Amino acid sequence: MVPKPAPVVIWTSLEGWAADQKIGKLHRISDSPVTTYAIGSSNGVMVLGLGTLGATWNGIEINLGFEPQLIDGEVFLHGLDLQKNLEPLLCEAPLTFGTNRIIVIDPGHGGSNTGTHSVLDGRFEKEFTLDWAKRIKPLLEQEGWQVFLTRTSDVYVTNANRVVFAGAHHADLFVSLHFNSAAPDTKQAGLETYCFTPTGMPSTVTRGYADPWSEKLSSNDFDAQNLQLAVRLHSALLRAIGMEDRGVRRVRFIEVLRGQKCPAILIEGGYLSNPAEAKLIESADYRQKLAEAFAAALK
Ligand SMILES: [Zn+2]
Repeated sequence: MVPKPAPVVIWTSLEGWAADQKIGKLHRISDSPVTTYAIGSSNGVMVLGLGTLGATWNGIEINLGFEPQLIDGEVFLHGLDLQKNLEPLLCEAPLTFGTNRIIVIDPGHGGSNTGTHSVLDGRFEKEFTLDWAKRIKPLLEQEGWQVFLTRTSDVYVTNANRVVFAGAHHADLFVSLHFNSAAPDTKQAGLETYCFTPTGMPSTVTRGYADPWSEKLSSNDFDAQNLQLAVRLHSALLRAIGMEDRGVRRVRFIEVLRGQKCPAILIEGGYLSNPAEAKLIESADYRQKLAEAFAAALK
């Protein structure tokens, strides 16, 4: 007989959960603009607010699936947020890597798929993602990683083949590299990191695509590690670069994150539509800094 999965208890008292997990107590830290609470463990501190999906983990922005509620004077969280967002960060051991330490780095776009372009001079995203990946490779190799790039030149690769490539190379980790655009807006700036949405939870970003909550893919076998990898790289890049934090976000529509057989994330390392960030992204020194921060996070 196939054992049934344990049912997810829907709304749960955060204080009760923290007591069960034997982690720190809940502290109310602010009443405006929303009532905000902090909860910590030896791993770090999470701050979350009533009626808002935005939360922070050790100062970086993350996103819950459901807004925390006050029920009979107590803070309640959705069971999936406890299981998929709080437990991996507050309770579980930090991410470890397989003994093989194989990483597939995916420079976004390529060939006829140019990606976005710099607002300054029209240079394409595909050029900068490839250069960033090529700078990361030797740095991670020095740390004992085997590094495979889904492309090493300006060629077109389908998203499906990028996922197949990771499986064929028995990747322990997959990281897709991109730069962003909000054109014609030139003000939006900052770092965004994406990981696959856990089953039963709404995505942070859908961009008009269907967001089937009930979908369960192989990517969902790595819900905890996806988030751990995302916060690790996101905070390392933010610390090194000091750019605006646009948060770790959940998505279903990004094809290279779908059907992965290992922890997988996608990083948008700044906006080519913002003149100041485009100037940085176009500088080799800056891309080297991005590469060094990436490699340092996986030491
Ligand atoms: Zn892109």
